[in-house]
Amino acid sequence: MTHPHSISVAIIGCGIFGAMASLRLAARGALVTVYERQATPLQGASYNNQNRLHLGFHYPRDDETARQSIRGFVRFREEFAPCILGGFPNAYFVASEGSLVTAQQYLDFCQRMGLRHERIDPATFDPVVRDVDLGVLCDEVVYDSAVLSTLVLQRLTDAHIEPHFNADVQRIERRSDGFRLHVAGQPARDFDAVVNATYANVNAFTEQLGHDVPEYQYEYTMVPIVEWDHAAVGVSIMDGPFMTVLPFGQTGRYLLYHVAHSVVAEHIGRHMPASWVDKATAPARRVDGQALFERMRQACSQFVPALASVRLVGFLEGPRMVLAHRHHTDARPSIVRCHEPGYVTAFTGKIDHCIWVADDIATLLLDRHTADVP
Ligand SMILES: Cc1cc2nc3c(=O)[nH]c(=O)nc-3n(C[C@H](O)[C@H](O)[C@H](O)COP(=O)(O)OP(=O)(O)OC[C@H]3O[C@@H](n4cnc5c(N)ncnc54)[C@H](O)[C@@H]3O)c2cc1C
Repeated sequence: MTHPHSISVAIIGCGIFGAMASLRLAARGALVTVYERQATPLQGASYNNQNRLHLGFHYPRDDETARQSIRGFVRFREEFAPCILGGFPNAYFVASEGSLVTAQQYLDFCQRMGLRHERIDPATFDPVVRDVDLGVLCDEVVYDSAVLSTLVLQRLTDAHIEPHFNADVQRIERRSDGFRLHVAGQPARDFDAVVNATYANVNAFTEQLGHDVPEYQYEYTMVPIVEWDHAAVGVSIMDGPFMTVLPFGQTGRYLLYHVAHSVVAEHIGRHMPASWVDKATAPARRVDGQALFERMRQACSQFVPALASVRLVGFLEGPRMVLAHRHHTDARPSIVRCHEPGYVTAFTGKIDHCIWVADDIATLLLDRHTADVP
């Protein structure tokens, strides 16, 4: 039942973070309206990613990112159990040359973070991994983004939240008693509060409200979806311009990623280049996909020779947004910020942060007024 003094909250963006914030706010009695410019939920970065449910193993140079992932892992896995694929050997390796952490530093990091791991011999692992100094099996799993999208839509329906799809929010205006949203093709509508969960678009509305915004690093990524005649397995080579191969959720296919090849365009600034929003004009249109895949296959099979046999099916593509000038740590935190009473943004790092981020957003809007949640 709705509380008689419920506040009305607009959520802009129905990726996993906007969806979870909507559910949490609605559960606490807020009147929630969700706007999403795509036709279905979770079509942005929440779909275009490596599907890895991080436990921290990927971030030996930033304890805070690892801590945030550990914090989110168990709750996400329990809340969205049907979309999880686990139970396959999933291992991290430290490259013999060019790694930004040594094998010993990596082991120290695992110990410091309390990450359960088991040392393995890279030469007897299936597939064989070469040119590495260390291998450890870990408990990380992957999730299936298409299944996750279905689960999220069902939960929104169960909570009587009907997102406005194909609804492009164009402008936000501050009013004496809240905010007015201008959505393409719809009458303007007023709300007590707004949650900006638009990922790569996050700075636009904050700037319209007159707040300073930081620069971010925008990366346009292409991730090959491949077929590989190998039982489910995960291999990640740390820590530098190396590779990962992981199951593509529950599809039976794989995703290939190579740090030196998957980012096909980069921009540091307050806003993502406008041409990246539409796939028809995005940087991937200037890339020869087959040639890119061949380069990646070659680079990946230097570490995992069996990857020479992978076959290209297609690509995931889209923008990623990370903190600018953080190459030295590779930090990927999530940051919830209340810029003024009633206006909250979510800068998001990892999928499984979405549950505690939603809790923090609800706390900021319903229990407090201004403060950052670290
Ligand atoms: C290549 C790549 C690999 C990654 N790998 C991993 C990984 O393995 N594991 C992991 O945990 N994380 C990974 N990430 C990060 C993770 O994908 C993101 O942190 C997360 O998906 C962001 O979710 P979100 O809800 O904030 O953004 P999104 O899912 O992008 O949602 C934002 C939504 O806002 C909508 N929107 C934007 N502007 C407007 C507007 N004006 N009006 C209406 N709607 C609007 C968009 O259409 C979109 O649906 C990866 C990211 C990339 C790009």
